[in-house]
Amino acid sequence: MPSAMIDAYQVYFDAVLAKTIARYEERVGQRFDAPISIRCADHQDFWAYAFMGHKELRLEIASGALDRIREVWTKALTTSSRLPPNHQIELLGHQDHAVETSFAWLLQHELNHQAIGHFTIIPGAGLSEAQCPNGLGIVELDTSQPSQLSELTEQEKAEIHMCFELQTDHDATEIVLGAYVKENWPLFRYYAVCILAVLFIIEAEERRLSKPFRQHPFASTRLFMLLGHLAELPMIPGIKRAQAEGLDHLPADYLPTSDEMFGYRQAVMSPVLAASQIFAAACGISEAWDELGTAEAMFADIDTILINQNRDVSAFRTQGARQWAELQPTNDRLLRSLGWK
Ligand SMILES: [Zn+2]
Repeated sequence: MPSAMIDAYQVYFDAVLAKTIARYEERVGQRFDAPISIRCADHQDFWAYAFMGHKELRLEIASGALDRIREVWTKALTTSSRLPPNHQIELLGHQDHAVETSFAWLLQHELNHQAIGHFTIIPGAGLSEAQCPNGLGIVELDTSQPSQLSELTEQEKAEIHMCFELQTDHDATEIVLGAYVKENWPLFRYYAVCILAVLFIIEAEERRLSKPFRQHPFASTRLFMLLGHLAELPMIPGIKRAQAEGLDHLPADYLPTSDEMFGYRQAVMSPVLAASQIFAAACGISEAWDELGTAEAMFADIDTILINQNRDVSAFRTQGARQWAELQPTNDRLLRSLGWK
């Protein structure tokens, strides 16, 4: 592509990164603890690559990543416009804002790989969403040096990467959504739809590459996490209040009323699940949506964790919840080694 076009992408990437860092610092309440740079690579495929260079977080993102997000949004909105009004995707502004919000979530995801400490577990290695020129998943840059990574099998590395993805998704989503207030229902719905656009693009890349081991959890697993996050959001202020007061139980009147919770599921969670079908089709992987299971099964699986506190694989009905449960032992081990548990 002509250099003037790459320059235009670079200006856009720099601007969205600045907003992403500002969002991180506002939500977390402290400065991001490393300098960050971003470089637009002239490449038509979707990929995003993050690594540490001289204590700086360096992001290399293909121009094709932004192109793909734009293309998928255009397809999704075209499909949506043919549906009955109450089934359409509702934006909160121009389509360009939705594209930017999806792209910003991808950058927030990369920032949180560093913030959680993933690069301390894989020193000298980078992380790639989809296939960048250096590789996919955990990318070892200097294979001449013996490292702990080289002792792991490809399957073990893939499982660690999948757990990194779940952890980073969680923190990036928390930062993007923000705290629960009833007035923000339309924002939660909108942000969640912008996030799932990226999840389904990465799922489409996993399927296209068709490697022996997946590097990213199923889109169904990541969507299950996203919906679980949305389901938990209204309960968090009450949980924090009970903790602050030293209570050993959660009084029912610290939580939103059942009417409010029902309205929230109708206004926020159901449209997000409906939008995921449109995005799966826009990414050319309608079958990935069929694998999610029914809305009823997915909501039942969310309740299994949130209400019954059950994390056994056998307790779940949907593919996403089962994979989430299967990854928990490795996930817990990684969180403990990072000092988060
Ligand atoms: Zn990642």
